Amino acid sequence: MRKSFTVEQSWLCCIGCGHRTDLLEERKFHCPKCGGLYDIYHNFSLMGKTPGEHIEIFNKRTSLAAFHSDDPTIYSGVWRFKEWIMPFMPDNQIVSLNEGVVPIVKAGKNLLAWIGGDILLYIILEGMTPTGSFKDFGGTVMMSVAKAAGIKAVSCASTGDTSAMAAAYATAAGLKCVVILPKGKVTPAQLAQPLVHGAKVITLPGNFDDCMKVMQRLVEEYAVYPANSLNPARIEGHQATVFQIAQYFNWELPDWIVIPVGNGSNCSSVGKARRLMESFGFQKTFRILACQSEAANPLADSWHLSQEKDGSVLLEKWKSKYRPLEVGETSATAARIGDPVSRDKVMREIVLSHGAMETVSEHDLNKAVSICGKDGHFVCPQTGIALAGIRNAIRKGWIKKEEKIVVVSTATGLKFTETATTHLRDNIISAADCRTETVAKIMKL
Ligand SMILES: [Zn+2]
Repeated sequence: MRKSFTVEQSWLCCIGCGHRTDLLEERKFHCPKCGGLYDIYHNFSLMGKTPGEHIEIFNKRTSLAAFHSDDPTIYSGVWRFKEWIMPFMPDNQIVSLNEGVVPIVKAGKNLLAWIGGDILLYIILEGMTPTGSFKDFGGTVMMSVAKAAGIKAVSCASTGDTSAMAAAYATAAGLKCVVILPKGKVTPAQLAQPLVHGAKVITLPGNFDDCMKVMQRLVEEYAVYPANSLNPARIEGHQATVFQIAQYFNWELPDWIVIPVGNGSNCSSVGKARRLMESFGFQKTFRILACQSEAANPLADSWHLSQEKDGSVLLEKWKSKYRPLEVGETSATAARIGDPVSRDKVMREIVLSHGAMETVSEHDLNKAVSICGKDGHFVCPQTGIALAGIRNAIRKGWIKKEEKIVVVSTATGLKFTETATTHLRDNIISAADCRTETVAKIMKL
């Protein structure tokens, strides 16, 4: 069978030793020489267009998206940027669920007052996707590559959102899907999603890190195709976050992009897109502020331990300080990860962007969710981590007056209703009976 694209067009390269291999043939996703993660590279020079010409194409597609189209490069907010994401993928092999067209909104007055500081704050609401989380940005690309590679079944370990994405895109692609979840550690909504999409659901009596260990051995010893972010095709799609933000500001980048870190896929992709745009001649890029909760902060903790007197962090020192940790309890269950699989990429991108890491308290992340809700946006607890992280960073003077900041809201709060109602339960008033007069009295009418 003729391959969808060749190894001269797009290929895998180990981030540790530079070992190169075929994206469509690779099944283990760990370098056989040094055990490192892979990046995907594309030969952009084969496309015969300049980055400026690509931007014109992206803008034209975006303007056409309001009208009916069967072309995924128009209706998908990810494939609209195809030439910078997976340029050699044939259009007829794209597996899309119309993902990625998400709003970027100005932060409301309640959130701005709580965060404090005279900043320009925007939120990209990536929960407004087919499965309710940012994972769909990467899922569409990963499943298109899986199909192009002739894969019949995919699998993932998940804290909830990845399994929903994998199950939805697998069924759209006509592939089988098995998801491995920590028993009792995902929300009812997140458990329902893979079941509804027809995946096989296996729960393990452990935490996410236990599930990931099983998943990694299934990949290495049983050639199971991973939908987790160790599959670098995911990272290519998540880059659309940065391209959308750039396009929203007429192809200018903000000063900071702020993200919560679980396994690290978002941080890896935001950083990769930043470097790509830098290589295309963008003079001003952004710094990454990556945030974790107190319950699961192996990267933020080791980042702080590695800081020099001037605040900078050297990659090798950070790597030497990094330790996996046993996770504690947190309402931000999707980021409850003690040993992030993409940690090497996270460290690389934060150091290269002159970025920073921040740890936030459980109180603050939940407070951020309820404050954001008062502005009309119901975001997930992981978004709460990022919002609380901005507040801390302003107080430390890392984020300066009038800087432009975009925070990635990674999922809808509708996946986490139990958390929200638990924290706001005291606001519920129970009427003693069903009489209108009783309700009117409570309403002080
Ligand atoms: Zn290697």
